Amino acid sequence: TAEVRFEDVRFAYNPDRPILRGISFAVPPGRTVAIVGPSGAGKSTLSRLLFRFYEPQGGRILVGGQDIAAVRQDSLRAAIGMVPQDTVLFNDTIGYNIRYGRWDASEAEVREAARLAQIDRFIASLPEGYDTPVGERGLKLSGGEKQRVAIARTILKAPPILVLDEATSALDSFTEAQIQDALDRVARGRTTLVIAHRLSTVVNADEILVLDHGVIVERGGHAELLAAG
Ligand code: ADP
Ligand code: ADP
Repeated sequence: TAEVRFEDVRFAYNPDRPILRGISFAVPPGRTVAIVGPSGAGKSTLSRLLFRFYEPQGGRILVGGQDIAAVRQDSLRAAIGMVPQDTVLFNDTIGYNIRYGRWDASEAEVREAARLAQIDRFIASLPEGYDTPVGERGLKLSGGEKQRVAIARTILKAPPILVLDEATSALDSFTEAQIQDALDRVARGRTTLVIAHRLSTVVNADEILVLDHGVIVERGGHAELLAAG
């Protein structure tokens, strides 16, 4: 496990419109920090900077004490697992999709990851819309089921650092609770950054940062922030 640290990070897509205006926080090794805020606050931008899709225009980002400006993007992708809100599946079985990027994993490991993410009953199925054999119908996966495939893939990959894009608002509340449970399970013991729209989904975070218009406007534990309104 490694620490993730943002030091006075500044970023704009457009010079005249700053998106992140001096963001500082640290996720201690093995801990969970949640970034909560309204749509457009800059949450996705912040996570993209962590993967070096863009470079900060001020400040720096450190992973395990090392400035990521000097770390190759593929190394970052290997060290940081991402569970996105929308998962695009590859043209192969769910099992293949779970194994993706961990080609050395055994069948048993793939099955165990699928079981933990509660997607094991689909492991041999092909997703709908792909070139399934003639006469066979592909499996229509819901958004929540696709997200479980991504969770299983991340369980198998077991990266030291996790980014969870927890926009589960499109899911019904039963599915959301189940996904939440699976995500909590993956996050345990890993350095985790959770991106969320609502305070109610990040009860287990060690610290919550409220981001608004590119500035951290509040920070604290779940109870503290609820009390503050
Ligand atoms: P959030 O994830 O909190 O909804 P984003 O980081 O996606 O916020 O977006 C923050 C702001 O940056 C928004 O105003 C958005 O329109 C803008 N933005 C996001 N991506 C781009 C981009 N690639 N180019 C220009 N503006 C962008
Ligand atoms: P999400 O937050 O779901 O990841 P995006 O970050 O892609 O979505 O987009 C967030 C906001 O940024 C949206 O309002 C989108 O319209 C806007 N946006 C994305 N890319 C660009 C861009 N290239 N130029 C301007 N606005 C953008």
